Amino acid sequence: AHFADYHFTDALQTALTKINFTKPTPVQERVIPLVNAGHDVIAQAQTGSGKTHAYLLPLFNKLTATTEVQLVITAPSRELAYQIRTAARQLLETTSFQIGFYVGGTDKEQQIKHLHQQQPQVVIGTPGRILDLIKHHHLLVHTAHSFVVDEADMTLDMGFLHDVDQIASSLPEHLQTLVFSATIPEKLQPFLKKYLYQPKMVAL
Ligand code: AMP
Repeated sequence: AHFADYHFTDALQTALTKINFTKPTPVQERVIPLVNAGHDVIAQAQTGSGKTHAYLLPLFNKLTATTEVQLVITAPSRELAYQIRTAARQLLETTSFQIGFYVGGTDKEQQIKHLHQQQPQVVIGTPGRILDLIKHHHLLVHTAHSFVVDEADMTLDMGFLHDVDQIASSLPEHLQTLVFSATIPEKLQPFLKKYLYQPKMVAL
């Protein structure tokens, strides 16, 4: 497959050329068509497989010009959240889409001030901070159409699944949800059953 097969926006295709991605990795080949078709997806994918772009590309491709939250991405660590933001920034560089980055240890008052001026289209962060901003009605997520839980197994191990569950319950029912995880532990099943609708499974 080639990236051209997916009919991404010009901005995304330009960004892919700029970062020298010529063809999709195996996880991208499996996941992108499923996301484009609107499915919920559970993907068993390791770091290094290209999993980040497997969800960023097709979900960014669905962004619209409204200045409201459209996509929420959680990561279990600040480091991973930061890496996702770096990839996201590269892909959105030539667009006016805003990325809100919310992790523990950053200036919450500044984030709140910003949010009262403008909501970002893309939300990336760790579960605790994102939930905190939602609970206090600073971050307005009722307009989201997609939700990504990256490294779900690690999220569970770190004790953040409860926060992710609460984020999920704040999002609209009509939502495309993607879960990426290196392993799918049994303890993840209740969450998957509760929030994913007829998910497609991708295992590599
Ligand atoms: P990830 O598994 O998302 O952490 O990605 C691992 C690395 O692969 C990152 O440095 C990505 O920038 C890179 N990468 C992802 N997709 C591609 C691709 N299609 N072609 C070349 N490099 C890629």
